[in-house]
Amino acid sequence: MYGRLVYVRICCPPTSYMPIKTNHSDVMSQSETRATALALYPEDSREAAALLKQAVPMMVRHNIPPNPVHYALWYTYSKGQEPELNRHLDRVVKDFDCFPPESASKLFRDYIIRDELEEARAGQQQAINLVDDMERDVSRCVNGSANFQASLGHCMEMLAEPVDHRLPAILSELQQSTQVMQDQQELFLSQLHSAQNEIMSLRDKLERAQLAASLDGLTKVLNRATFTRLLEHALINAPHGVALVMLDIDHFKQFNDRYGHPLGDRVLEHVGQVLRNSIPPQALAARYGGEEFCVVLQTCSDLTSAHTFAEQLRLKIQALRIKVRGTDEVLDTVTASFGVALAKAGDDVESLLTRADDALYQAKRSGRNRVN
Ligand code: GH3
Ligand code: MG
Ligand code: MG
Repeated sequence: MYGRLVYVRICCPPTSYMPIKTNHSDVMSQSETRATALALYPEDSREAAALLKQAVPMMVRHNIPPNPVHYALWYTYSKGQEPELNRHLDRVVKDFDCFPPESASKLFRDYIIRDELEEARAGQQQAINLVDDMERDVSRCVNGSANFQASLGHCMEMLAEPVDHRLPAILSELQQSTQVMQDQQELFLSQLHSAQNEIMSLRDKLERAQLAASLDGLTKVLNRATFTRLLEHALINAPHGVALVMLDIDHFKQFNDRYGHPLGDRVLEHVGQVLRNSIPPQALAARYGGEEFCVVLQTCSDLTSAHTFAEQLRLKIQALRIKVRGTDEVLDTVTASFGVALAKAGDDVESLLTRADDALYQAKRSGRNRVN
C-alpha cells in the first residue's frame, strides 16, 4: 500500500468509543479494550445484583412493567454511567403517568444497544421473544388478580347475608382462589429469574459479537474498520499526542511462493502476536491490509520515541524463528519496513496515514528492514 495509499473514509461517529486504556499483551487484553470501549456491563455478579436491587424498587415506584428492555434501562440508570439517559428517564417518569413503550424502545436503542452489530440480530430476536413471554406472564398474573378480586367480591356478597351453614363453603372458595393466585405469582417469579439469566447470556453474546467484529480473525489485532474509527476518535480528542507507525513485511510474497499460503498466514499470526505483546497501554495495533500493520501510540508527542518504539518492533520481528510444523526447518528471517508519522494540527486519518505511508515507502526504497 505504501506510496499508493488508497484510503476510504469510514463515516462513523466516534462517540461510541472511549479512550483505550489496557495493555494489548494478548487477545484478552484486546478484549478488555473492547470491553472498556463498548461493553456496558463489566461488573461482576455481586455488583450486578446490587444494581438490580436498586433498579427494581425504582421500577415498582414508577409502575414500569418488568421486561428486559426496562430492566436494562433502569439497571443502566442505577449505574449512572449515562447521565444523558438518566436525565431522559427522569423526564419521562415525570411527564407521563405510565412509561410509553416508544420511549423505552428509543432509549434502549440509543443507550443500551447503540453499538449493536449484525451478529447480534439473532440475540435481539431472542430479546423480543423474551419480552413477549414476559408480557404474556404479566397479563396472566393480572388476569389471576382480577379473578381473585371477583372471587373476593362474591364472598363479600355472601357474607352480607346470614352465613351460618355456608361459611365453610365461602372459606373454601377463598382458600382455593388464594392458592391459584399464589401459584401464578410463583410462576411469574420463576419466569423473572429465567428472564434475568437470559439477559445475562444475551449480554455475553453481544460482547463476544462486538469483540469478534472488531478484530482481524487471523492476527487478532484490530481490523481496519475498527482501527480507522478509533484513530479518527484519537485524532479528534488528542491530536497532539498521536504517533502512527506503519509497517509492511518485506518480500512477503516470497514466503507464500516458497512455503505456501498457510505458512504465510502463520507469519502474519506471529507478527500480530509481536504487536499485541509489544504495544503500551492506550496504544492500538491493527492489521491495515494483507501484510501491512499499524500501531497508534496515543500518548506520544515526539518522533524520537515513536522511532525508538518502531525500532524495537523491527528487532522483535527480525528475531522471530518460525518453524515449519512437524519439521525442524526454520523459515527465512522475517523482516519489515517501517514508516513513522506524528500527528500535527489539522491532521485527519487520511493525511496522517499518507505521511506514514510515504515514510514507509522511503524505508522500502532505502533497502527494507529499517525504520524511517
Ligand atoms: P515488499 O517488500 O515490497 O513489501 O514485497 P512484498 O512481497 O511483501 O509485497 P507484495 O505487495 O508484492 O506482496 C504482498 C503479498 O502478500 C501478496 C499477497 O498474496 C500476500 N498476502 C496478502 N494477504 C495475505 C494473507 O492473508 N495471507 C497470506 N498468506 N498472504 C497474503
Ligand atoms: Mg504490502
Ligand atoms: Mg510487503
